[in-house]
Amino acid sequence: MPAILAATVAEVRAALADFRRRGQLVGLVPTMGALHAGHAALIERARRECGCMAVSIFVNPIQFDRREDYEAYAIRLPDDVALCESLGTDVIFAPAAEEMYPAPQSVFVEVAGLTDHLCGRFRPGHFRGVATVVAKLFHIVAPHRAYFGEKDAQQLAVIQRMVADLNMPVEIVPVATVRDPDGLAVSSRNRRLSPEERRAAPALFQALQAAAQAVASGARSAAEAKAAALAVLEACPEIRVEYLEVVDPATMAPVEQISGPVRIAAAVWLGATRLIDNLYCPAVAR
Ligand code: AMP
Repeated sequence: MPAILAATVAEVRAALADFRRRGQLVGLVPTMGALHAGHAALIERARRECGCMAVSIFVNPIQFDRREDYEAYAIRLPDDVALCESLGTDVIFAPAAEEMYPAPQSVFVEVAGLTDHLCGRFRPGHFRGVATVVAKLFHIVAPHRAYFGEKDAQQLAVIQRMVADLNMPVEIVPVATVRDPDGLAVSSRNRRLSPEERRAAPALFQALQAAAQAVASGARSAAEAKAAALAVLEACPEIRVEYLEVVDPATMAPVEQISGPVRIAAAVWLGATRLIDNLYCPAVAR
């Protein structure tokens, strides 16, 4: 079935109004396009759960801390539309930047605390841009449910907190990280890796697994878990570590002692490409 392709706020609202009149549950999958198997997992889950499934495709300029990163971001709208249609998407919202930001934005959503660490520390303004555009998308689409990947665990936590603190009537549905067979989390950035960098990249997941294994075997200090992960990463000269942290999953703040569930999160550089990944470690009975 062809999807309805909406480029303006008025068009997407009109398209969704028909579904709403028929009493359909509206699900939204926000993306920046260049769709891959990770996005497909979100779309398939939304398709199963919602009578009306919408995908937004918008490369959000205000979440990029580096202009060249925004300009280099791949745009593949015809391929994305084809994938969305093959997965049964009802409505695709693909606005131009001028449609989302007809004038410079002066209202922003800041999620304090949760954004002090991990990516928030290294990408100033990034989560403010993400929370602001997601808030705008929620106002435009008014979904009952919205789907986000655990691959971006800090982003997921930021959106959950925004929705709770601002009483937004939308249920946030987390979706597990989709990985290539060698463990590398699927990402649109993986396409930028050289063949050598691609060969080295699974070390990121292997490092997180080594830390998770240390936690599961009883490591009580974050330093011990981090050392297990760093040993894996340090064996790869192609990889530069930006951060590697053991954090409290609720606050995203680094912990020193491991006494409950933790998330191990890392960002690394391979050449000019930055990759992130994380693993949840449940509490271990001690
Ligand atoms: P992006 O287009 O990169 O902004 O991502 C859009 C959504 O897809 C976000 O909720 C991401 O967390 C999610 N996502 C990206 N990669 C993956 C993956 N490998 N597995 C699951 N979800 C993902």
